[in-house]
Amino acid sequence: MAVPKKRQSRARQGSRRSQWDVIKAPTLGRCPTCREPVRPHHVCKACGQYRGKQVLPEVAPPEAPPEAPAEV
Ligand SMILES: [Zn+2]
Repeated sequence: MAVPKKRQSRARQGSRRSQWDVIKAPTLGRCPTCREPVRPHHVCKACGQYRGKQVLPEVAPPEAPPEAPAEV
């Protein structure tokens, strides 16, 4: 069994343990279909697609809303 060569200082031990209960913001990417923020390797909840395939049929496909205000 591998054995540590040197004893680790209390400061190093403390800085390692300081991350134990830290809650970090989730990593976010962009859905290639609707540009909504999505977690990597997760189905987009806005359009229901994953890797270009519709996997949540009850979600409407992303289309421009017809009542969008005309610009200029
Ligand atoms: Zn999407």
